[in-house]
Amino acid sequence: MFTFDLRTTVVFGDGVAGQCGEAVRRAGGRRVLVVTDPGVLAAGVPRPVLESLGADGLPYRVFSEVEPNPTVVDVERAVQAARDFGADAVVGVGGGSAMDVAKAVGILLGNPGGIADYDGMDKVPRPGAPVVCLPTTAGTAAEVTIFANYSDRERDYKFSVGGRHVAARVALVDPLLTLGLPPAVTAATGTDAFTHALESYVARSANPVSELLALRALALIVGHLERAVADGRDLEARRQMLLGSLMAGMAFIHTRLGLVHALAMPIGGVAPRVAHGVICGVLLPPVVAYNGPAAVERYAAVADLFGLGGSAATRTARLADAIREWLGRLGIPARLADIGVERSRFAAVADQAMASGNIPVNPRAADHADLVAILEAVA
Ligand SMILES: [Zn+2]
Repeated sequence: MFTFDLRTTVVFGDGVAGQCGEAVRRAGGRRVLVVTDPGVLAAGVPRPVLESLGADGLPYRVFSEVEPNPTVVDVERAVQAARDFGADAVVGVGGGSAMDVAKAVGILLGNPGGIADYDGMDKVPRPGAPVVCLPTTAGTAAEVTIFANYSDRERDYKFSVGGRHVAARVALVDPLLTLGLPPAVTAATGTDAFTHALESYVARSANPVSELLALRALALIVGHLERAVADGRDLEARRQMLLGSLMAGMAFIHTRLGLVHALAMPIGGVAPRVAHGVICGVLLPPVVAYNGPAAVERYAAVADLFGLGGSAATRTARLADAIREWLGRLGIPARLADIGVERSRFAAVADQAMASGNIPVNPRAADHADLVAILEAVA
């Protein structure tokens, strides 16, 4: 038995950003807070979105004070901006950070308190204001997930808010918005998307539909990420990456993830300036090596995408190295020391990771000592 449930209406295609005004109107919005980040705004990426809102006669205000790994303070500022403007709908244009802030504003326009009050799963009691998300990276899939992540810098703590009322109402997934993304960001976000697809594909909780989406996502990402990094204007590579990231998101909202994400969350608290996808990339090879024996056939299918030969067991055994080499070509660092995470933090990171809902679905059981050993392997 399984259920498959998508909370978000997805519209995919070149130029669909121009449907933003119509999407907001249909969702019942009349005054819009547009949440974006300063880099995306300076590059002019939200222009078609703003033009569409203007053409539909929807008053809007732009809030662009979004930092990577947004904090509870960023969220409070954005909510205040929405209240000051009298917004009743939110549009998020950007990477995971901008979309997660937009999702928080939507939640808090319909629910009391601060975003940290909703740390965990299904803690948001009521639907908030409608949110329309437009991703500018092919990575987090925040446009379609029922999760959003925030940091509390005072406590070095990163947390996840999940549940039915966290999802965006509409995702306008427009490859044209991703054309200007710099190579390093393309590589980091693409690595995140790859990790989502892989962890979902091998998860104990996988179902026939999530498997199909995850395996197709893996094929699209392995086939196009290097192209998108080498030439950001390669529209076909951008399209397939965005589709891959979207499908990975549709898969993992039904399965959750695995050890990479269980560990990446507390490491993100320790190293808030490091891109989430980079942290995932550092952790992937040792986690694949650890998990391999517990899901040989699945990892062998992934190894096929990397062109590895031999028996299923041989292909699986070679996969961690193939992924390490691929990530090296993408410019992803190989060691935790390279991203400023010291050995002295490992025990505390493993402590926090053990509480993650991503641990029970991982294909191989793992205890605290196993997690520390995985971190030690890439110290
Ligand atoms: Zn991720």
